[in-house]
Amino acid sequence: MPIDYKKYPPNWLSEIRPRIMKRANNKCECCGLEHKQIVFAIKLFVRIDKNYKQRTIWFRNLEDAERELMQDKVKEVKVVITIAHLDHDELNHEVKDDRLKAMCQICHLRYDAKEKYRRSLF
Ligand SMILES: [Zn+2]
Repeated sequence: MPIDYKKYPPNWLSEIRPRIMKRANNKCECCGLEHKQIVFAIKLFVRIDKNYKQRTIWFRNLEDAERELMQDKVKEVKVVITIAHLDHDELNHEVKDDRLKAMCQICHLRYDAKEKYRRSLF
């Protein structure tokens, strides 16, 4: 999902993002994976109520991914840490650092999915 930085605060890339990445020690602040680290992804089917949903699961070791493998192949994925807006307010130029969190792709997607679900209820 490409990010439209034009809507972000003008100092996002020069100041805010580097400050949050430094606080996070270049790691996802949810799961601890490091920026640009290689992880091993497999797809699993998870039963939710009566439906099966495909979920991507990441492993730090290839051996662990292969042990859980069913049909698909293990895929190498490079972790990319992005800064998540905890209030989902990308247009807020006054956002405070404690409402920003460094997250890997999976944590960011899951965080946003929870919000999407919440919004769909209203
Ligand atoms: Zn993460």
